[in-house]
Amino acid sequence: MESTGLLVVRTVADLRRAVAGFRKAGRTIGLVPTMGALHEGHVSLVKGALERGDVPVTSIFVNPTQFGPKEDFSAYPRDEEGDFTKLREAGCRIVFAPTKDEMYPGEQLTTVTVAGITDGLCGPLRPGHFQGVATVVSKLLLMALPDRAYFGEKDYQQLQVIKRMVRDLAMPFEIVGMPTVREQDGLAMSSRNRYLSTEERTKALVMYRQLVKVADTVRDGTKSCSEATAVASQALRDGGFDIVEYFTVVDADSLKPLEHVTGPARVIAAARLGRTRLIDNLAV
Ligand code: AMP
Repeated sequence: MESTGLLVVRTVADLRRAVAGFRKAGRTIGLVPTMGALHEGHVSLVKGALERGDVPVTSIFVNPTQFGPKEDFSAYPRDEEGDFTKLREAGCRIVFAPTKDEMYPGEQLTTVTVAGITDGLCGPLRPGHFQGVATVVSKLLLMALPDRAYFGEKDYQQLQVIKRMVRDLAMPFEIVGMPTVREQDGLAMSSRNRYLSTEERTKALVMYRQLVKVADTVRDGTKSCSEATAVASQALRDGGFDIVEYFTVVDADSLKPLEHVTGPARVIAAARLGRTRLIDNLAV
């Protein structure tokens, strides 16, 4: 019988040893990369791994290289003990929580850049972000050597970047995209929702409502994508959002902007509410 429980590892050597133990027992491995401050969205990825028969391995690392100089790296919520409890309850078996030095020992001269699909949306608004993400995810994949890795559709552009990186570099891992987990009223769960005041929490819902509206409108063709998203952007500003960074309809794979929907598409938005940057998207 396999032992149960959550093993906490902090070094790559210990991670590889733990993973090798499960492999020797004939098990497959499912990696769930996270930055911690876990919520039901993260837990759904662990459950996704369990449903596919994988041993779930969750990484918790607030990756400094994917934050811009004016972004919330230092303020990013951290709650290691709370995270471990949630992972234990979800049935996760290994948590990899490395230090910065374990992830980036010494001078790092190698980065991974995915072009094209990072040209729009969050790409130009967060310079260096996707390079930071692609590089750290490459490292986590090579450290854990899983069969599958699980990512949320909540970060839709990130999911496409990772899928493309794995394809282009022939990395032998399957990337599984999982549906966005929402609060009862529709707000997408996010670690950053902890920043929202009660008043902002109410206003935040406008984004989800407008995404639903635009998806419906462009699906039935009542309005073009640019007309529908212009109305939605204004509704966000009227609803109390301070800055609408983008609100657009894109091709689901290439992430190129669309004027009319003829195939798989995604309505996708980023906007600021006080000090909080919220992103969300829906399938059209
Ligand atoms: P983060 O800790 O925010 O970097 O997210 C780690 C992983 O969890 C990423 O693959 C996210 O897309 C995913 N994730 C975050 N929020 C949600 C959510 N509400 N539903 C599903 N997946 C999510």
